[in-house]
Amino acid sequence: MHGELHPVSIGIVGVGKIARDQHLPALAAQPGFRLAACASPHSRVDGLPHYTTLDAMLADEPALQAVSLCTPPQVRFAQARAALAAGKHVMLEKPPGASVSEVALLAELAREHRCTLFASWHSRHAPGVEAAREWLARRAIVSVNVQWKEDVRRWHPNQAWIWEPGGLGVFDPGINALSILTRVLPHAFFLTGADLWVPANQQTPIAAHLAFTDAAGTPIHAEFDWRHDAGELWQIDVTTRDGTLRLAQGGKQLAIDGAEIDVGPEREYPSLYARFLELIASGGSDVDVRPLQHVADAMLLGRRHLIDPFVP
Ligand code: NAP
Repeated sequence: MHGELHPVSIGIVGVGKIARDQHLPALAAQPGFRLAACASPHSRVDGLPHYTTLDAMLADEPALQAVSLCTPPQVRFAQARAALAAGKHVMLEKPPGASVSEVALLAELAREHRCTLFASWHSRHAPGVEAAREWLARRAIVSVNVQWKEDVRRWHPNQAWIWEPGGLGVFDPGINALSILTRVLPHAFFLTGADLWVPANQQTPIAAHLAFTDAAGTPIHAEFDWRHDAGELWQIDVTTRDGTLRLAQGGKQLAIDGAEIDVGPEREYPSLYARFLELIASGGSDVDVRPLQHVADAMLLGRRHLIDPFVP
């Protein structure tokens, strides 16, 4: 529907790390979109009309058809509401909001305004994820172990929002693992308990251990840690009666019983934008709050351990 002659005119909101690392290159390579403007309080993109607020962008760029929100989650709802009210299709970076309820309301607003709302989960577009889902669909699961560990100083420099309420702390990367799990595991699961380690000077956890189970009582264990300075460990092991599946490097690698399977190159963000285009063309929305719901449950059920202050 949207060929090269009629690309969807799109604006980026929040020109920070992920916008520069992934969204700008993915949009530059996607003929279905034409990046028309950006809105960000301070940061600019060379050669692109710039606005300091989304409202100013919406007022001055009436031809915009879509916006992609790459801002921190705490400001996501107000921006998405304004864009939907202006009749724009909206793509949300993960997490889709600061609370579960606000995302449900956005989905309603999208329906009301006949716009597409795409709550994106980039890790679900990692190349090993769909192959893992297909393999697991026919298997009896025995247990699941998730190790999601990285150095916060390397991956989140100068990001004060991650330590504020709504910033998720270590769940900001950890929710990527939960987005994969909710996609690949064949049965619904729920949190039964959690331990959260919170630095005394911060609002959000720097580490978390989570216990989940499903209706069959399958043990699902996850460890998220931001104090890991020995490279990144973004790994999910699913033990089944037919062998163990490992998704490593955030879903880029897939192995069954140690034998690696070729899943092709990494193209998470190009795939996200292709999906957004598809949703716009079909008049649909894609809003799955389950990963965020699990994080909310961890905040509900988690036992908090106050630890030494963390100085970024
Ligand atoms: P970031 O580097 O702090 O960038 C966020 C940007 O949002 C800032 O540069 C800031 O712009 C802008 N901003 C803040 N408030 C705004 C507002 N009211 N209106 C418009 N722009 C505003 O954070 P990030 O790492 O890019 O993360 C953003 C989102 O992407 C988060 O939800 C995160 O979970 C997700 N994400 C991040 C990564 C990653 O590797 N970092 C990966 C995947 C997803 P100014 O610079 O102009 O002040």
